[in-house]
This record gives sequence, C-alpha cells and structure tokens, in this order.
Amino acid sequence: MTQLNQPISGNDLARFSGPSTFMRLPQATSLDGLDVAVLGVPMDIGTSWRSGTRFGPKEIRNQSAIIRPYNMATGAAPFDSLNVADIGDLAINTFSLPDSLRIIEESYDAILSTGIIPMAMGGDHSITLPILRALARKFGPVSVVHIDAHTDVNNEMFGEKETHGTVFRRAHEEGLIVPDKTYQIGIRGTGYEATDFSEAASWGFQHFPANELWGRSLSGMGAEIRRDIGSRPVYLSFDIDALDPAFAPGTGTPEIGGLTSMQALELLRSMGGLNVVGCDLVEVSPPYDATGNTALTAASLMYEMLCILPGVTKK
Ligand code: MN
Ligand code: MN
Repeated sequence: MTQLNQPISGNDLARFSGPSTFMRLPQATSLDGLDVAVLGVPMDIGTSWRSGTRFGPKEIRNQSAIIRPYNMATGAAPFDSLNVADIGDLAINTFSLPDSLRIIEESYDAILSTGIIPMAMGGDHSITLPILRALARKFGPVSVVHIDAHTDVNNEMFGEKETHGTVFRRAHEEGLIVPDKTYQIGIRGTGYEATDFSEAASWGFQHFPANELWGRSLSGMGAEIRRDIGSRPVYLSFDIDALDPAFAPGTGTPEIGGLTSMQALELLRSMGGLNVVGCDLVEVSPPYDATGNTALTAASLMYEMLCILPGVTKK
C-alpha cells in the first residue's frame, strides 16, 4: 500500500512546533500523487470595508495545528484514503487585483489538470471568481453551495466589476455556474436596494436566509441539497462571515444574526456524498481576530470539508 501523507501527531512533536502547514501535513513541492491540495491565497485587495485577509492562510495554518486526523462525530478518516498535502501559497500580485485573479485562474488550470481537489484558504472572496472560471473550463458550469452572510451579486463597486462583492453575478453572467443549483445559505443584513436578494433569486439561485434558519438544526439540509444536485460537480464556497460575529468576529464585513458554529458543522457534515470538486474558506481577517477563534473555526471547518470529499472512508 502506498504511504499516504499524515499530519504530524501532537504526541510525537509538540503542537506548538513543527511546520506551519495546514494540520502540519507535509508541504508538497510537486502535485504528483496527491488527491487533495490545500493552498493559501493571501489576498485582501478585493475587500470593500475592513481588510486583513492577506494574513488569513498563515493564521488558519497556525490554528490548524491542534486538529487531529479522525472525526469523532462522523467517523470520517480523511488521511486513511486520500493523499493530502499543503502546497503553500499562490504568488499573487499584491499591487494588482486583476493580475492576482489571472494568477489564481492559471494556477487552478494547472492544479485541475492533474485531477486533484483543491481546497483554498483565503484571502477575500474575490478569489472565488477565477477559481470558478478554471472549474467551468474543466467541468462545464458547476453547482455552488455558497455559505455567506452576503449574496456577493453587486454589479460593480467603485466602477470595478471584479471585487469580493460581485463574484456570483459575474459567475452567473459568464455561465460558470448552474443558477438553479446555486444555494446561498445564511444571507442576511441590510441591502443597497430592496431587490438585492430577489434579483439573484430570479436567476434561479436558491436562498436560505439566516433568519429562516435561526434556532433550527441544519443536519437535514445537506441531504436535501444532495437530492437536488445529484452527481453534478459542486463547488463549496464558505465565507466565514456566514457565522455570527459572536463565533467569528475576525472578518471584514460582519453581520449580526448569523449561523452558529454548530449549525455550520451540521450543514457541512450533512453534505457528504456530494461530488465536490473543490472548496474554499474565505474572509478570515486575523487583525480583527483578537483571540484567534475565527481562524480556529475556519481551520476546523476546512477539516470538516476535507471529511466530506469524495473517497473519504469512515472508521
Ligand atoms: Mn462573500
Ligand atoms: Mn460575506
């Protein structure tokens, strides 16, 4: 049997030492033999309010050092069946958003050509548009499970078409996603127009506003979505501001009344069986994360996404 990469055990090397990779996995310099590549996209030049997400990957990796390999709630044993490595950060151009988006898209073309599932740590949400462009080139239009306080369907911001708040309108216009298999979960807050949500709904986007989810278990939602999506390729995009700022304060555009950490776990754990072809966790802003709890939550949710990838075995 081929030896699969394993996180360094906290019983062999103290958790506060060792490599600064996701879960202290090996840092890979080549994509050969990998099933899953975790990568950082350290960027915040697509933000519109508070910045700082350029430090997201570094801090998510830091907090991920405490995560152990086996999922005690679901039985998932991702490292028993998948070869996972941290492939480091993309070398974005911090002085140019368009150039950074080009770099992300080209990097994803290379990663996807190998059949690897990429898991990105943002970075602000603008990283998702070039990722969807690369995915659509390979798979055709994909389904999207988009967990976020915001729909990110502005037409433009300060005249710019590519920002963290315009991603899903561009993706829709460019035909990168299947509109009626696009699920926006946790949306809330105030709008620029009363029609902010209804326009995207008219394209077919399926909306699950946070206020309709308050006090509810989300453990049935994944199965519902799975029945609707079937075996289509699906991309998971998790904006950490979907969570209530009580759970995840370290983010750029917080909105009160969000999901709990427990609802996020229920939601992700119920999505096993989806044909996930990639995922991201975006908008963690360490300068606003005084306790590190937002990055810890993000790292833990990245692990939960890893646990539902196709091919993960259970113990
Ligand atoms: Mn977003
Ligand atoms: Mn958001």
